Amino acid sequence: SLTIGIVGLPNVGKSTLFNALTKNDVLAANYPFATIEPNIGVVGVPDPRLARLAEVFGSQRVLPATVDFVDIAGIVRGASEGEGLGNKFLANIRESDAICQVIRAFHDENVVHVDGKVSPKSDIETIDTELMLADLQTIEKVLPRLQKESRIKKDRQPVVAAIEEAKAILEEGRTLFSAGIAQGTERAEPLRELHLLTVKPFLYVFNVDEDELMDEAFKEEQRALVAPAEAIFLNAKLEADLAELDEEEALELLQTVGQDEPGLATLARVGFDTLGLQTYLTAGPKEARAWTIKKGATAPEAAGVIHTDFQKGFIKAEVISFDDLIEAGSVGEARARGKARMEGKDYVMRDGDVVEFRFNV
Ligand code: GDP
Repeated sequence: SLTIGIVGLPNVGKSTLFNALTKNDVLAANYPFATIEPNIGVVGVPDPRLARLAEVFGSQRVLPATVDFVDIAGIVRGASEGEGLGNKFLANIRESDAICQVIRAFHDENVVHVDGKVSPKSDIETIDTELMLADLQTIEKVLPRLQKESRIKKDRQPVVAAIEEAKAILEEGRTLFSAGIAQGTERAEPLRELHLLTVKPFLYVFNVDEDELMDEAFKEEQRALVAPAEAIFLNAKLEADLAELDEEEALELLQTVGQDEPGLATLARVGFDTLGLQTYLTAGPKEARAWTIKKGATAPEAAGVIHTDFQKGFIKAEVISFDDLIEAGSVGEARARGKARMEGKDYVMRDGDVVEFRFNV
């Protein structure tokens, strides 16, 4: 499955955040026999629709979609030159499908900042610079050979042109993602063979003081720093406390800092979206469940997530939108109202589709 690598300078609250993430580990809660790796936190994507479906179908349990976060050893200045854990660090990022930077914005005299001052802007620059330098190294290693090769093999020219463009962007001090060359897009396609780091989607977690959680002007400033990447604001220590509480107590605590959901819930949702994923829903007496698919997946591809046989033998999908189903109150009533659609193999799944597949075995 796709993973999000958590990176950041030392002492910004990564471990605190990661511990809170693993306390929320849905694998531990729902799959007691799963092997849980120490550096991976599997977090449920909150979806209130599942509880509603469980009511309609009398489902015994609810299974949300999940996002995998990987704790990547601390980055230091010079990582791109193989300093300290540099090489291992870069290899771990290369394996991640998105990069989540944890940025310190909290003030605490007892927690040393590696650069002596709290400055989100300069911390972001430090990390982005290491990633961009690593990409430039990758490019400089292969470019002369590819340029030579493309003089004979004309079909290699688009690749060389794309790499030269990427090099110019990186030399300007911009990540490829922020320049619109994001993994999965057509512009990034010719660069695929290079396994560059800064084409990966970025998201930023600002570990802020509790009063900054409500400071809209401050948050707007940080958002502007990282756009087009998403920014999430949370207090890692608070998240760790929340992870110890039951839902009602957690909501009460959140209200005291003006929030309506834990930062981790926001992080899971935004992370899931950043990975280019969406869900569809199934429900029955056993469980109400969200299944993970790529945005743009067709009905047979969606069926294949449940079982490869469902995809191979796909006949059609009976689809009811969540809103229609809840309004009707039952599948039977939704059918009677003409709200159940039979979709074929070219149907592109939509968010909120409640589905039952018909297939040959
Ligand atoms: P890491 O090096 O990035 O993994 O950082 P840690 O999670 O180990 O945190 C470094 C120190 O900062 C620890 O003493 C934490 O208790 C403290 N810390 C983490 N998050 C916060 C926060 O939101 N506010 C405050 N005041 N301290 C924090």
